[in-house]
Amino acid sequence: MAGTTLKTEAVVLRSIRYAEADRILHLYSAKRGRIGAIAKGARRPRSRFGGRLEPFFRLDLVLHEGRGELLTVTQVSTVDGYPRLRSSGAALAAGARACDAVLRLLDSAEPNPPAYNLLCRYLALLDDPAAARAAELETALSFRLKLALAAGFAPELASCARCGEADHLVGFAGAAGGVVCAGCQAGAFPLSEPAHRFMVEAIGRPLLEAPGAEDAALRQAERAISETLEHHAHVQLRPAA
Ligand SMILES: [Zn+2]
Repeated sequence: MAGTTLKTEAVVLRSIRYAEADRILHLYSAKRGRIGAIAKGARRPRSRFGGRLEPFFRLDLVLHEGRGELLTVTQVSTVDGYPRLRSSGAALAAGARACDAVLRLLDSAEPNPPAYNLLCRYLALLDDPAAARAAELETALSFRLKLALAAGFAPELASCARCGEADHLVGFAGAAGGVVCAGCQAGAFPLSEPAHRFMVEAIGRPLLEAPGAEDAALRQAERAISETLEHHAHVQLRPAA
């Protein structure tokens, strides 16, 4: 068989039935970012791939790369299947939104270790019964902020994104990509001090240590992240909860 072999770890973001017995996989890989792959015969009852080509599975893969756009899965073993994540509705929904965000935001074939590690870490927390906060909105928004940072689209939070003023930061402008001061707030929406503080602290702390915040502040933070990604990455994310 002509072509080359790629060995990499990857997380299954999406798994689509194809033809009679195959699966097409959208993978986020450690070594090459986004990959599309086909697993031939994966839906046959005794497929050597077993049931592991499903969303959220973290896999060790051997792929064959030929001339086509899709790589072909030749070997697969499970690094982690996150079985407890699948048994909780809230964790499952949060995991699905995380994979969807990665799918939309990270579409290049460049490796991005911070993004890959962040996705694996979040899925592991959603799978951990001791990490009760993992499926909460605070943690989901912290994941989004960190993912935006890894993708190079973190909002500017330290000073006015238009003039650099460090005080009187009263709004957020997606087009400017960050917080804005009172003098620059045309086209911005009002950002409360708790919403601003939430974002600063969430981006600086580990995932599970995102600060608690009122719902109104979290909604503003979500809007700030969404508008930044819409304007600068041209990506629309699904609602965070
Ligand atoms: Zn300003």
